[in-house]
Amino acid sequence: MRKRHEFWRKIPIWEDVSVNKFLSYQWSIFNTVQGTVKLKKFLNAVVPNEVSFDKKGTRMQSRDEYISDVLDGIAAATMSVRLTPYILSRINWNNPRHDPIARQFLTMKSAMEPDHPSLKLDSLHEEDDSPVSGLVHRYSDKALFLATSVCPTYCMFCTRSYAVGANTETVTKASQRPGRVRWQQVFDYVRGQPGLHDIVVSGGDSYYLTTQNLCDIANSLLEMPNIRRIRFASKGLCVAPGRILDDEDGWFETLVSLSNKAKKMGKSIAWHTHFNHPDEISWISEDASQRLFEEGVMVRNQAVLLRGVNDDLETMSRLIRGLADNNITPYYVYQADMVKGAEHFRTPLQTNLDLEAKLRGSIAGFMMPQFVVDLPGGGGKRLACSYESYDRKTGKSTYRAPAVTGHDKENKVYEYHDPISSLAIDSSA
Ligand code: SF4
Repeated sequence: MRKRHEFWRKIPIWEDVSVNKFLSYQWSIFNTVQGTVKLKKFLNAVVPNEVSFDKKGTRMQSRDEYISDVLDGIAAATMSVRLTPYILSRINWNNPRHDPIARQFLTMKSAMEPDHPSLKLDSLHEEDDSPVSGLVHRYSDKALFLATSVCPTYCMFCTRSYAVGANTETVTKASQRPGRVRWQQVFDYVRGQPGLHDIVVSGGDSYYLTTQNLCDIANSLLEMPNIRRIRFASKGLCVAPGRILDDEDGWFETLVSLSNKAKKMGKSIAWHTHFNHPDEISWISEDASQRLFEEGVMVRNQAVLLRGVNDDLETMSRLIRGLADNNITPYYVYQADMVKGAEHFRTPLQTNLDLEAKLRGSIAGFMMPQFVVDLPGGGGKRLACSYESYDRKTGKSTYRAPAVTGHDKENKVYEYHDPISSLAIDSSA
């Protein structure tokens, strides 16, 4: 029998927390660390007296210096802080500066890099492509419905940092609150577009929709003859998987019953989740994935290629295999978007191309993710290798997106720019 290691007990404040309590979604919500005051208290409890500053451990940083570095980073970041007990328990607190999970959610000021001049807050121009508030309609047959602006955990590289999470010191958010009146305008628009067949319900995160909200949205969309497919986007399976095993909660049962209803209508409801590193997978996420698999809910993953997190072959390979072994389809690996404050997360396009080339053939083709660039300026997703030009010296790659229409997009040339630091490395080589 598989060992069910109670990994959260290494956190001093949770050393007495039982399995049942840790799996409880209510307990998870109550113990989520939100805001800098709670974060500082938590870090003081878990970070050792000294942490390694560099990877080799030749330079050390005191706990106070590390905590100040994190708080200064958060003050400069575009995203606010919220971390679930699950994700906090997956971090190696003995080496937090180099932990691939901590890096995604706790920005250190010393790790940040000056933005490339082309970085934007709304890099994908989502607001320009929204015919009604909270609906991004860029492709002819599919649209993105921003049902809420809240997530269980905030990622510091978020594409939607212009809208998601609480206001920060640097960004006043264009929040999208859940609510029937706003949603009705979205439903009216979607119903009036016969060519629209596919809706992604995101935000924010569908985990922060109530079961009533899930039903309202799914039922409203399913009853429209033009809508064939619905995808609920949620990082929940990665950051709070206990909810799927919590029989007191009801979110999982609601998703299953809506998925079954869609199937009976010849339509589909799927869950799109967001794992970026294999260490995010534990026996809890494995059990949760198995439960979803047994109930016939299709789960796909959309990872982001992140420097210092998953930009090496061994890590990306383990991530894809880990997902596949849990019957989660590794659907996309995105080139990190050109969003403000995320320069230190971005890799050159070449890293993306190299990983794809080395991974293809190492895993069954139907489990091989598409390595894509979501084109800055709203051209949509293109295979990273489909560039029209790529100048490795200047770091500029260009793409076209002929199937994306409106605002003369079919004739536009879209540019992706490698991070500045990668150009410095190349030119000195
Ligand atoms: S879960 Fe998604 S929407 Fe929420 S902060 Fe992370 S990347 Fe942004």
